[in-house]
Amino acid sequence: MAPLVETGVRDTFGRPLRNLRVSVTDRCNLRCQYCMPEEEYTWLRRSDLLTFEEIQRLVEVFTELGVNKVRLTGGEPLLRRDLPDLVRMLATVPAVRDLAMTTNGVMLAGQASALREAGLHRVTVSLDTLRPDRFRALTRRDDHASVLRGIEAVRPAGFSGLKLDTVVIRGVNEDELIDLVEFARGVDAEVRFIEYMDVGGATHWSRDQVVSRAEMLQQLADRYGPVEPIREESSAPAERFRLPDGTTFGIIASTTTPFCRTCDRSRLTADGTWYLCLYAQRGVDLRTPLRDGASRDELRALIASGWSRRRDRGAEERKELEAIGRRGVLIQIEGLRQDPHLEMHTRGG
Ligand code: SAM
Repeated sequence: MAPLVETGVRDTFGRPLRNLRVSVTDRCNLRCQYCMPEEEYTWLRRSDLLTFEEIQRLVEVFTELGVNKVRLTGGEPLLRRDLPDLVRMLATVPAVRDLAMTTNGVMLAGQASALREAGLHRVTVSLDTLRPDRFRALTRRDDHASVLRGIEAVRPAGFSGLKLDTVVIRGVNEDELIDLVEFARGVDAEVRFIEYMDVGGATHWSRDQVVSRAEMLQQLADRYGPVEPIREESSAPAERFRLPDGTTFGIIASTTTPFCRTCDRSRLTADGTWYLCLYAQRGVDLRTPLRDGASRDELRALIASGWSRRRDRGAEERKELEAIGRRGVLIQIEGLRQDPHLEMHTRGG
């Protein structure tokens, strides 16, 4: 009998499995204060990192259960050697209709063309500031010019739909929203402002540093006039808006306006641990069965059963804690040292 191919598995809230974020390394070449503020980190073991063949195999199984969007992330994905080879392999998986990457852009200028040629569809570059001195203070590296060169290389390489992701933090960059909207327009990109999240890694998070979606919208309306929401059917985390002159931008308001209800995302770490929520404390080990020779059907059953039991609504639960005055740093540094999987730079954001 032909194996039962389950398509479109749903979780306990009826949410489909559509988006898979694949972290290809936990290493990063920046040390952003809101993500990797510590001096020392516990890294994943190199021998535990999935090979490209293993990643491809898992992605194929995920697509049989409904995944059609794959985003490469990290750590910094461009630190993974020969990344275009992986892109080429994933681009051949027929069900993957959207193959994207999130990068800090530092190494993008040298790799954009190779990634495009390999079949990458879209690029998102994280850009928190347009000021080199701020960039240095925020990331503790001197690479701002390289990031801008990376952004400039995206269009000539043949990509369209460039996005710029900005984490907005009070006292750091909340005065740059307008500059970033203007900059994005100039490079034919759409900027998305992200509320500062109390995720693993953000060991200095505090509620007063969060610039809310409402504040951001007010700031932009004060400058540009009425901001119009763009109504669209989408499970994307960003809500999109239009300024009177037609410029569009997005806001990802996971902290003040969680969107767990439509969340169809899950995350695969570079060592093959599968997380069903950005805030989840535990993941499903897919590497061990994969390396122990599990068949495709067995892997599919494992993933299907994990997703069909999914009850996670991490961002909403964080918000509920706020209502009773108990919202703070998600995981203290000792916990992160014991299990690096809890880190944002391991999960890929
Ligand atoms: N290195 C790549 C990059 O910089 O885009 C990919 C990995 S990074 C962890 C993915 C995204 O997570 C980045 O846009 C980063 O700004 C975001 N991020 C990390 N910590 C965050 C936090 N505490 N709140 C909101 N976004 C965060």
